[in-house]
Amino acid sequence: MSVKNVKAYGTEASDAVLEQLDITRREVTSKDIEIDILYCGVCHSDLHFARNDWGFSVYPVVPGHEIVGKVIKVGEGITKFNVGELVAVGCLVDSCRECNNCKNDLEQYCPEFVGTYGGQDKHLNMQTFGGYSESIVVDEDFVLKIPKNLDLAGIAPILCAGITTWSPLRHWNVKKGSKVAVIGLGGLGHMAIKLANALGADVTLFSRSPNKMQDALDLGANQVVISTDEMQMENAQGLFDLIIDTVPYSHDLNPYVGTLNTNGTLVLVGYLGPLDPMLNSVPMILGRKTVAGSLIGGIAETQELLDFCGKHDIISDIEIINIQDINEAYERMLKSDVHYRFVIDMGSLKD
Ligand SMILES: [Zn+2]
Ligand SMILES: [Zn+2]
Repeated sequence: MSVKNVKAYGTEASDAVLEQLDITRREVTSKDIEIDILYCGVCHSDLHFARNDWGFSVYPVVPGHEIVGKVIKVGEGITKFNVGELVAVGCLVDSCRECNNCKNDLEQYCPEFVGTYGGQDKHLNMQTFGGYSESIVVDEDFVLKIPKNLDLAGIAPILCAGITTWSPLRHWNVKKGSKVAVIGLGGLGHMAIKLANALGADVTLFSRSPNKMQDALDLGANQVVISTDEMQMENAQGLFDLIIDTVPYSHDLNPYVGTLNTNGTLVLVGYLGPLDPMLNSVPMILGRKTVAGSLIGGIAETQELLDFCGKHDIISDIEIINIQDINEAYERMLKSDVHYRFVIDMGSLKD
């Protein structure tokens, strides 16, 4: 298979900074689309993967799975996309296409899904490289159309932060009048508030600090509950149909389970790992409450979200950076010092 070298930004080791390097991309096959990358969002997973926090990174690592760009080449078999069109790519670039999950538009749960970075490229038989690069080649089935009315850079985080919160909102059937709470106001949390609000839900932010109150209201929350205030937590008992928990580290879920209504669900989208302290089943059993998890969304659902965002004029609140500032951005992200997502202007890699 013919390949070409592409400029990228990545790291050769878990303890090394990100810097410019060359990677290999395949030439387009009949089903592929080559995309000139204009913007790429910066996700917490990028940092975890670059630093091998999950223990399965293969180096070099080139992160980035919130990609917006322009089609510069299409394979012979492509009919859905044209050169010059603006498109997006999210967290997935391939899957088996045959399992029940794939047949039900749940490619994110396919046992053989191929991540946009750190996955196994079936064509080149090596790891996939993400969006911190000049260009990417992707199977057309994993390329998304973007609404024409939205700011391109602000679209990028919809591809991961957005779909990660949209998928549970849809799965648990949030609609006008639903009572939704969001734990944590970061990249995921701010999208959860915007999307739940646009679906017509009554939205509450759980926050540890009163400082975030005005920001949450501006994003579309109806109220804020300070989770460290016992009286406020007491008043919130039994209120919520769905709680989206975006906190990326282990924390005590038990106080939040109590705020679920009968049949309510708390869904984890930010933290991977064992829960500490353990869950107490009593409030779950006394009210048929569920604690669940959810991972990004399928391709059809991601397209549905992009169309919804176009209709409701929703983009992410972002801070644009140059690729040369990525290491500093990681440090700031660790301190939650970003409102609410960094997006890389990939033009800075080409200069
Ligand atoms: Zn992500
Ligand atoms: Zn599959």
